[in-house]
Amino acid sequence: MSLKKPEEKLLVDGKRIDGRKPNELRKIEMEVGVIPNANGSAKVAFGNTIVVAAVYGPRTLHSKHLQLYDRALLLCRYNMAPFSVEERKSPGPSRRSIEISKVTRLALEPAIFLEEYPQTVIDVYIEVIQADGSTRVTGINAASLALADAGVPMRDLIVALSGGKIEDTLIIDLCGKEDNYSEADIPLAFMPRNKEITLLQMDGRLEPKEVKKILKMIVKAGEKIYEEQKKALRGKYEE
Ligand code: ADP
Repeated sequence: MSLKKPEEKLLVDGKRIDGRKPNELRKIEMEVGVIPNANGSAKVAFGNTIVVAAVYGPRTLHSKHLQLYDRALLLCRYNMAPFSVEERKSPGPSRRSIEISKVTRLALEPAIFLEEYPQTVIDVYIEVIQADGSTRVTGINAASLALADAGVPMRDLIVALSGGKIEDTLIIDLCGKEDNYSEADIPLAFMPRNKEITLLQMDGRLEPKEVKKILKMIVKAGEKIYEEQKKALRGKYEE
């Protein structure tokens, strides 16, 4: 969300800067098993946003004081590579990456049968290789795939997608420029089977009826993401 005006129009004759319609997703690419040393891994691209996720565990948590006696501890780290954006990003954690790591954990936890692995830890590492908007939701899709690839028992996959408003038009899957100049944006994560929402954030201002409409657009487009996730998982085993 920004109060600044974009240098170019973000919407011309109903088409967005990359030619998409308001309810159109960018090109999606998904692959699992991309990091042999990890227990599970995935690479997910939404247009020019490329993210890799790796899962290690469940494995014994050696620091006894951190162990949970009734479930596994889920640790998530979201990180943007210094070369992932046009101007080099300084390495190391920031307020933003700490927040995204936390909301990623909250978005994933409801899907995982953590209670089956007490006293263990599941580490989820999310690395943004190239950033062009909506990195947190792309990261959540990749992490969910990597968890499934690791064989971690889950209630459902987590599907995540952003929605928002540009020039009074409701859109989904914001690219970088749209993200920077949007009037509002909503990252959403949910379990498609029972439509349980596990993450909903909002930046900017929207009417309640606009929020409802964006959520509907996201859930509808999420069906395609869910299919792509299942295809990527099946793909590994068909090979
Ligand atoms: P999200 O990536 O989940 O949409 P933000 O709204 O915080 O999260 O970021 C929007 C976009 O701004 C990112 O996807 C990325 O393209 C860009 N961005 C974020 N941090 C930086 C940074 N340090 N330098 C350059 N661009 C950035």
